[in-house]
Formats: sequence, C-alpha cells, structure tokens
Amino acid sequence: MSEVPKDTHIRTSDESERRSDAPAERSLNFIEQIVEEDIANGKNGGRVHTRFPPEPNGYLHIGHAKSICLNFGLADKYGGKTNLRFDDTNPVTEDTEYVDSIKADVRWLGFEWENEFYASDYFDQLYTFAENLIQKGYAYVDDSTAEVIASEKGTPTEPGKESQYRTRSVEENLDLFRRMKAGEFPDSAKVLRAKIDMASPNMHFRDPIMYRIRHIHHHRTGDKWCIYPMYDFAHGQSDSIEQITHSLCTLEFEVHRPVYDWYIDKLAIFPSRQIEFARLNLTYTVMSKRKLLQLVNEGHVRGWDDPRMPTIAGLRRRGYTSASIREFADRIGIARRDNLIDVGLLEFCIREELNKTTTRVMAVVDEKPIKVVLTNYPEGQVDEVAIENNPEDPASGHRNVPFSRELYIERDDFMENPPKKYFRLFPGGMVRLKGAYIIKCEEVVKNEEGEVIELRCVYIPESRSGSDTSGINVKGTIHWVSVAHAVPAEVRLYDRLLTVEDPSSEEGDFKDFINPKSLETVQAFVEPGLKTAQAGDRFQFIRKGYFCIDDDSSPEKLVFNRTVTLKDTWAKEQRKS
Ligand code: ATP
Ligand code: MG
Repeated sequence: MSEVPKDTHIRTSDESERRSDAPAERSLNFIEQIVEEDIANGKNGGRVHTRFPPEPNGYLHIGHAKSICLNFGLADKYGGKTNLRFDDTNPVTEDTEYVDSIKADVRWLGFEWENEFYASDYFDQLYTFAENLIQKGYAYVDDSTAEVIASEKGTPTEPGKESQYRTRSVEENLDLFRRMKAGEFPDSAKVLRAKIDMASPNMHFRDPIMYRIRHIHHHRTGDKWCIYPMYDFAHGQSDSIEQITHSLCTLEFEVHRPVYDWYIDKLAIFPSRQIEFARLNLTYTVMSKRKLLQLVNEGHVRGWDDPRMPTIAGLRRRGYTSASIREFADRIGIARRDNLIDVGLLEFCIREELNKTTTRVMAVVDEKPIKVVLTNYPEGQVDEVAIENNPEDPASGHRNVPFSRELYIERDDFMENPPKKYFRLFPGGMVRLKGAYIIKCEEVVKNEEGEVIELRCVYIPESRSGSDTSGINVKGTIHWVSVAHAVPAEVRLYDRLLTVEDPSSEEGDFKDFINPKSLETVQAFVEPGLKTAQAGDRFQFIRKGYFCIDDDSSPEKLVFNRTVTLKDTWAKEQRKS
C-alpha cells in the first residue's frame, strides 16, 4: 500500500469538499443536496436530467473528466439521464476530429449518453426565440462598432451608456435582424443585443450581445447561417429545449446566471437551473484547451495524446485506467470555491490500482547495464525460476523466468566503494537475485576507460528462493535478466511537463516553465515473456514503477511508457536538486 499523499489539497476548500482520505461513505455534496431537495419537492416530477456540453475545439482533459463524472454520476445516482451536447456555436475553432475524440473519451471513461445533440441543431429554434424577444421589445439591433459598444459598457463601478440604437422600433429591429440573417451585411456590421439594464452592477447584464454576423462555414450547418448566437444566448436555451433539470457548470459562469435566467423568464420556456462548481486545477499542469493547443501546434509535445498531456487521450496512453480517473474525480469531490489539487493525488489513484492489478516483471532499465557472470554456474545451462506474478493477489500465481550464467543488472545496483548501509552489490558483497540465488561479487572487470563492465560472482546453490537452506542473511534483493534471453526495449520516462506548481500564478508565458527533461528515452532489457505484450498492457517493473506498452510498440521493437513511479519520488528529488 502506498500512502495517500499528505497535503493533497492546497486548501481553499469549503465544507462540502471531501478530504482525500475520507471513507467511501460520504455525506452529500452541495449539488446532491440541491437535487435531493428538488426531488423531495416534486420539482420537474422528480426528474433529473443533466448534460455534458463540450465545445469541440480541442481534446478533453482531466478537468472535463471531473465534469463528466459529476454530470453522469449524478444522473446515475438519481435514476436520471445525461445528454452529450456539443456546444458548437463558434464556427471558427471547431472541428469534427474533436467531436470524434470527445465521444471516444466519454465512452472510455465509462459513460453512455442518452442523446447526442449539437447546439447548432437549435439554430432555427434559437433564431425564433430571438425574433420572439424582439417582438416583445426585449432585443434590438445595434449598428455600433465593437469599440463603441465596449466604451459604452461602463465599468463595474460606473453605469454604462445606452446605445443610440436602443430605441429602434420593433418593426425596424425585426427587419434588420431578418436582413442580418439573409446575409445583407458584412461581418461585424451589426449585432443583436438584449435590452436589459445598462446600469446593472453585473456587467453581463448590460445589454449582452445575442447574435453577431460571421460569414463563416460551420462544420455542421455549412453555409446556411451567417449569424451565430453567443454562448449566453445559446446555452441556457439549449438546456431548456432539452428540458435539462440541473445545468452544472464551472464557477466563472456564476456571473452569467442572471442572464441565463432572464432569457428563460422572458421567453417563458422550460426553467433549467444553472448550478456552479469549482473547476479542477492541478499542480504543474495547464488545463485550458487554448494552451494545450499551443503545446501541440508548437511541437512541445507529440500530439494531443502525448503521455505528458493532461488530456484523457494522453492519460490513457500514459497507462491510466478509466477507473483510476473516476476514483480521482470522486476523491477530489465537488467544491464551491476554486482550489488547486496536487497532481500527486492523481498519481496516487493509478498507483493504488496498478499495485492490485499488474504482473511484476523484471526489466533492467539501463542503457549500459553491468554483466554479472556466475563463474560456478555451468555454461549453457538454463534454469527456470518462479517469479510471483502479484504478491497483492495470491490467485495470480507464478511464472517461470529463464536464469543462466550471464545476467544483466542495473549499473545503479553496484558500487565499487559503497557507503555504509549499502545493501546492493559491491566487491566482496552479497545480494539476492530476485526469485533466484544469493550471489557474492568476487572480481570487478573494467574496460580501458576504467568503466565497470562485468562482475565475476559466485552463486550459492543452497540459497535458491523458496528452498533456501544456506543460512545466509542478505539485506538487498535486486532484479536481473538473463543476457541470452533479454529482449531489448525502449522505455520512455516522463516527468512533469511544467516546472512550477501553479503556472497560473506565475508572471509571463506558461511556456517559459516547460520542463526540458519531461521526456527521457532510455534503452532497457526486459524478460522474454514481455515479447508478446500488446498495446495497453500494464506491468510493474520490479523496483522501478508501473509501465505500459505504448501505441508505438511492435513485436520488433517494444516501447514502454512509465505510467508512474513506485513511490512518490518527486518531492525527494526536488529536495536533492
Ligand atoms: P477550457 O478552458 O479548457 O477550454 P472550457 O470550459 O472552455 O475549458 P468546454 O468544452 O466549454 O471547455 O467545457 C465543457 C464542460 O466542462 C463545461 O461544463 C465546463 O465547465 C467543464 N470544464 C471545463 N474545464 C473544467 C475543469 N478544469 N474542471 C471542471 N470542469 C471543467
Ligand atoms: Mg468553453
């Protein structure tokens, strides 16, 4: 069992947030409390219907996973439904590649949606809503430039100024809006605005823009439209059309809620309720799709699914399971105030799972391993030694690994002049070879450069693991692979992509903090049974960490990714450097 990282939360949490080490039984989070109250009051006939509304402008990341687990989890818990709705109202940044990846990632996380919808499916309905508001005198066409609109907006402490076009008649507004739709005006020549309150202390209430003109091809509606609704006008109405009961979104939308409610109220349509929760922020991680896109486009990573990326695709390739991500989402809980979560908690979740599920294998992860020659072991003889597949799971049994006169060990497992309490190999010292015998180092062979290349050792035949009658006690056990049977492999060791804990609190561009050593590719020699490992297979490399087969792997050239180290070595390494 690894330990739960201490101080997992850098706390700014409120009472509804769970401690990372809380028991499985937990009290209701604040959203569940609201839902239970609504059910108890018979609101919406006790129905619970949520939605996950990604904008298809990038791949999903671990923050989205939190939102997915929340939306789908809540519906599951209360016998409700969840829609997947693509919020594709901005034709500039959206792409079908993203739509496909989002669907694949939600499914991989273990959730199935009730309906697959697109906000663009509602363009006709939204247009009708807009005409309806014009007819009721709640919307007007504004010819002002973006600069004038911005300058008339006022500041949070000063009221704004009403636009000179605000008093247009209903007929004129209708006519202009229809002509905007018909394509009579160039981009940005006019906008449709809600007529609310230019003196409101909430800036979003100062006549927000509903529609703008963009002569741009849309990935689903093609060239049918040249006016596109703004987020605030599309989102709540889409929720309402789908009769979403609880519309969960992140805290930055709290100030938009009055607008959300205002449209629903003035249109007199189904009253979806918006509830905000804190977005997930992770240490050493940037999460915004805009920044992740920069990392991809500028070649700082190999793609959206680079194992260093906080995307679902990246985590999957890194070796994360969907269960470990769901477990993480559950442990962080739902809070009402923003906080920063230690990425160590995510690593803890996958380590815990892999500890229970993975086969322990031997891999000498070293470009230049040291050869151990057992001088008293017959040449050409091959023994099979039994290695426990997983001590955490007695039912997993054993497998045989070939053992012979010449073995590789890692360079780190030998020291010519060891300090006190060094329990690995040194001249004259003894160590146990995992699953096999105790050996004693008798002679050190060096090359011309003075580098140790070979250790001539004797093995103690009576010391075989499982039937040791040697009476010798050694403190150290090291892993090894038989030279003649070793399979070469490439191993990719990943480290934090960024060198600072909270990139958002740093001055300057986040790219200034990219860790130049976030990927280290090393050569390794692995036990022969791994030759047939398939993409996605996961293992514990004994004493090293958890690894999985990368998509780049082939039977001719094995490639492993390190998912996570055995223990949290990060804090220790930081102290050293
Ligand atoms: P980004 O800033 O990363 O692009 P976004 O909020 O613009 O994120 P959307 O695709 O619009 O991304 O988000 C879909 C849903 O996921 C929204 O409900 C949003 O609130 C939620 N979400 C996005 N990021 C996070 C996060 N870090 N933590 C929790 N929920 C998030
Ligand atoms: Mg967005």
